[in-house]
Amino acid sequence: MSVNAPLLRVSDLSVEYTRGDTTVRAVDGVDLEVPKGATLGLVGESGCGKSTVAKAVVRLLRPTRGSIEFDGQDLATLSESQLRPHRPRLQMIFQDPQSSLDPRMTVREIVEEPLAIHRRGNRAQRSERVRDLMDRVGLPRRMERRYGFQLSGGQQQRVAIARALALSPDLVVADEPTSALDVSIQAQILTLLADLQRDLGLSYLFISHDLGAVRQLAHEVAVMYLGRVCESGPVRDVLDHPRHPYTAALLSAAPVPDPDTEAARERIVLRGDVPSPANPPSGCRFHTRCWLRAELRGPELCATTDPAAGERPGGGRVHCHFAAQLHDHVPGARSHAHAVQGGDT
Ligand code: ADP
Ligand code: MG
Repeated sequence: MSVNAPLLRVSDLSVEYTRGDTTVRAVDGVDLEVPKGATLGLVGESGCGKSTVAKAVVRLLRPTRGSIEFDGQDLATLSESQLRPHRPRLQMIFQDPQSSLDPRMTVREIVEEPLAIHRRGNRAQRSERVRDLMDRVGLPRRMERRYGFQLSGGQQQRVAIARALALSPDLVVADEPTSALDVSIQAQILTLLADLQRDLGLSYLFISHDLGAVRQLAHEVAVMYLGRVCESGPVRDVLDHPRHPYTAALLSAAPVPDPDTEAARERIVLRGDVPSPANPPSGCRFHTRCWLRAELRGPELCATTDPAAGERPGGGRVHCHFAAQLHDHVPGARSHAHAVQGGDT
């Protein structure tokens, strides 16, 4: 599909958390674009800064640096009162609907609340809107009077989606919206999100560590490592032809549905833990765990120089000094020292 002009353009975004006298830069110079009416998938290991990006984009957090251009206006530095007219247009769905929904409220109250806060319509119009939203997300109208805790996980996430849609947003930021759900329910929620995008023209920033889900829902993808984006581009090209050794490692750790392929494939095992964002490695942030650097016998450049963005042949960008050498070294293409057959990761 052709990619539209961006609705959201995030440039050089940095977010710091301060605890006592330590400051952690959880997000450090991130660039992202969410195309109009399409989906940007954001992937990366736990702790790499995905939720922090999400919260900054909807301005639940104030960024330390950078711009968040939404439909042409920079939201990064706006005050709470300046943000108010923009808030309805940017909504967020969280991973765990149980903790994001108030258990003392009924489904109807939960979905209606944003309409009441923003004074949309009279009581009768709001009731009608709640019923429309429930239809849209596949919740039977009889559930209107139920309490959140009386619903299944999948139903709770549908309520959270209905609430997020109440004010007719343009952008929905979904932070691991299916990770807390049973596998059988995950597919239903992904299908619902895709249907809603098609019918309502929504743009999504879709955060997930499930690469299968990202492949299904996203048009573009950005891969994060330790507070940075290391590779981004069209989702099929990035996932089928990764150009960054970290993306290749993430893909190799993801389960493959076909059991024969699963048993036969080689995996890249990343050594060591993710370094702390409080003290990130010099040069390329990934160099301390990089299997490609090990294969290339440890070039000094990786440890001294932060790689600038390079163009990917299939579109998008990659930050690796040796991206051009990657395809000679990915397991499957050739055997290599860090690949093990069917090993656990
Ligand atoms: P992800 O969503 O990718 O798992 P997060 O954005 O939640 O990552 O976290 C990124 C980094 O910021 C982690 O090192 C995490 O420990 C740290 N962090 C997240 N939230 C806070 C907070 N409120 N205070 C201090 N550090 C935080
Ligand atoms: Mg998170």
